[in-house]
Amino acid sequence: MRVRELVKSFEPYRVEEGDYPVRLDKNESPYDLPGWVKEEIFEELRELSFNRYPHITSMPAREAIADFYGLSPENVAVGNGGDELISYLVRLFEGGYVVTTPPTFSMYYFYAKLNGIPVLEAPLREDFTMDGDAIAEKAGNASVVFIASPNNPTGNLQPEEEIVKVLDTGTAVVLDEAYAEFAGKTLWRLIEEYPNLIVLRTFSKAFSLAGVRAGYLLANREIVDALYRVKSPFSVGVMTTAAVKVVLRHYDLVERRVAKIIEERERIRRVFREFTYPSDANFLLMRLNAYEFLLGKGIAVRKLAGRLDGHIRVTVGRKWENRKLIEALREFLEVRECG
Ligand code: PMP
Repeated sequence: MRVRELVKSFEPYRVEEGDYPVRLDKNESPYDLPGWVKEEIFEELRELSFNRYPHITSMPAREAIADFYGLSPENVAVGNGGDELISYLVRLFEGGYVVTTPPTFSMYYFYAKLNGIPVLEAPLREDFTMDGDAIAEKAGNASVVFIASPNNPTGNLQPEEEIVKVLDTGTAVVLDEAYAEFAGKTLWRLIEEYPNLIVLRTFSKAFSLAGVRAGYLLANREIVDALYRVKSPFSVGVMTTAAVKVVLRHYDLVERRVAKIIEERERIRRVFREFTYPSDANFLLMRLNAYEFLLGKGIAVRKLAGRLDGHIRVTVGRKWENRKLIEALREFLEVRECG
C-alpha cells in the first residue's frame, strides 16, 4: 500500500480547536435554532423510519426547497453541505480546467486539485470586484467558472453586469451565493435565462444549520439530472431533510436574525472604518494583523495569507461577542500605536 503523492501533498485540515470563548472564525450563525423550532424538527423525526435509507435523490428536501422558490424539484439538487456539491461541480462538465477568482473560497481549489483538474486564476481587481472580460477570455476552454457573490473572504457582492459577461460565454458558471441572505440580493432568477448558470446556496449561514450539513443548488434540469447520475446516492440523511423542511417554514425568523447580524456588522464597521472593507455578508475583512493578539484574548478569527497577508476575517457574532471583539481591537490599536 502506498498513499498517493497527490493526497500527501494536501495539508491536514486544521482549525483552531482551542477552547476560545468567542468563536468568530467560521462564518456560522451566532444564533442556534430556538427550542420550539428544534421541537418541530424532533416531531418530524418521530415519524421517520431510521432503519431505512433516505430517498435516493433527496426528493422530499428538493420539493421543500422548490416550493420555497416556486420552482420544480427538477431544478433543485441537495447536498451534504454546499461543499459536497462543489466536489461534483468541478467534474460535471467538458473542458480542460476550472476558473477561479482569487482571493476566494478554498474548496474550489481543493476539489479541483484532488481530481487532478488544473485551475486557471482570474484574480479579482484591487477593489475585489471581478473583471468579467478577463474571466470570459479564460472561460473559453474551461469546464466551469466559480464566482462567489458575496465573495468569501472579501465580503463584497459582484456586479451583475460582470457576471452576465461570463454567463454569455455559454461555459458553466457556478454562482456561489452562500451569503446571499446577508446581501439582500440574489441572481437565482437568471437560471431561467441562462441554462449554464448554477446558483449554489447553503443552510449553514443564515439558516443556522452549519452542524446539520445541508446545501443546495438551483439550475436547469439537464444539470440537475447530470449531477444525480454521479452523486453519492444517500449523502443527505433523513435528519437533515427534516431540519431543512422545518427551517424553511420559519423564514420570518431567519429574516429577523439576518437583520440583527447586518445591524451588528455595520456597527463594527463604523468603529474600525479605516481598516475594514464594506461587506455584504455575515463577516468583515479587516486590514489588521491582529490574529495572535485576539487569540490571546480568547477570540478566534480567521487569519488570511497570500494577497491578504496581514488581514483577518471576522464573523459577526452576538452583541456581547462583538463588544468583546471591539474592546480587544481597540486595545490592539492602542498597543500598536504606543509600541
Ligand atoms: N461557499 C462559500 C463561499 C462558503 O464560504 C461556504 C462555507 N464556508 C460554502 C460555500 C459551503 O458551506 P457548506 O458546505 O457549509 O454548505
